[in-house]
Amino acid sequence: MTRNSTRRLTGVGAGALSVAALLAVVPGSSAVSAGRPEATGPVAARAAEGKPRPDARHVVIAVHGGAGTALKREDTTPAQEKAYRDGLAGALRAGQKILGKGGSSVAATEAAVRELEDNPLFNAGKGAVFNEDAGHELDASVMRGSDLAAGAVAGVRHVRNPVSAARLVMEKTKHVLLAGEGADAFAARNGLPTVTQDYYWTEKRWQELMKAKGRVKGSGETLTQGTVGAVAVDGKRNLAAATSTGGLTNKMAGRVGDSPVVGAGTYAKNGTVAASATGAGEVFLRGAATVTISDLIEFGGRDLATAAYEVLVERLPKLGGTGGVIALNAQGVFDAPHSSEGMLHGYLTADGRVVTKVFADETPANR
Ligand code: ASP
Repeated sequence: MTRNSTRRLTGVGAGALSVAALLAVVPGSSAVSAGRPEATGPVAARAAEGKPRPDARHVVIAVHGGAGTALKREDTTPAQEKAYRDGLAGALRAGQKILGKGGSSVAATEAAVRELEDNPLFNAGKGAVFNEDAGHELDASVMRGSDLAAGAVAGVRHVRNPVSAARLVMEKTKHVLLAGEGADAFAARNGLPTVTQDYYWTEKRWQELMKAKGRVKGSGETLTQGTVGAVAVDGKRNLAAATSTGGLTNKMAGRVGDSPVVGAGTYAKNGTVAASATGAGEVFLRGAATVTISDLIEFGGRDLATAAYEVLVERLPKLGGTGGVIALNAQGVFDAPHSSEGMLHGYLTADGRVVTKVFADETPANR
């Protein structure tokens, strides 16, 4: 019997984690801990055992704020650190609120991602990066693990919360992915708040565009600036994943990345994993990043941490790009491997504990 099948058998046993029950026990818990440097924690443990081990257990919701965007201690003020930690924690709390009321993992991931979309610190919604034409085109997706239902929007220019448009595509149409003007019009028709392009303008992103354009005359350089995402498991043990992004700074107009593509940037299947990715989108598309994690678990006998590590650290860099993923299974096993220098992320456990990781040294690369 493989490790994986052992886990699946134990996962449905009498001792299985009841998310709703555990959340109900500590509904308003406000414990928040910063992640600590892990040189003596999981990293050392992994090195000692020679195989990846999950970051945490009993996780009910996790979020990320992008790979390659982790903060450097020497350049970060306490106020900046707090703003990022609060941003991630606020998103986790928004999801917790939904799960605590018996809501679905789809609703929880949508709520968490909406918080991050409304926060200018993150590259999604309000804080979306500029494309080469100094415009903004946003991508988002959501997937439900119980029946593989999915919805996505690509290249939208006027939706305030693209993740909500993605959920509407999943729930109100027979399609999976709507793009461009049709997607914007669909969102507006269904009552989602719309914005003009100047809503997404921020000084920070403008400076990043100027920097990208200055570096390579003519063609322009594209820079990874993050993405946001969430994964969750609800009281019925259903998984969901959602991802939202402004894409890459200075990307070509019309370019669509991995974030709205099911199996690349986002995937959720109850028996395997809920995963949301961030990083070099073209590589995540070519490597079918998140569905490969699921397939390695389902058909390759890997456990969650081994499968996620294999894809993110061993396979994708060989295709020429780095990034990270948050991955959660229905038993609350969570991991966040990445090949980028760091990955902003956080998770919330069934007893209400929040952990956030914002510094590169809290999330060392290649683990
Ligand atoms: N994966 C995103 C994209 O390629 C960017 C990122 O996560 O940094 O659009």
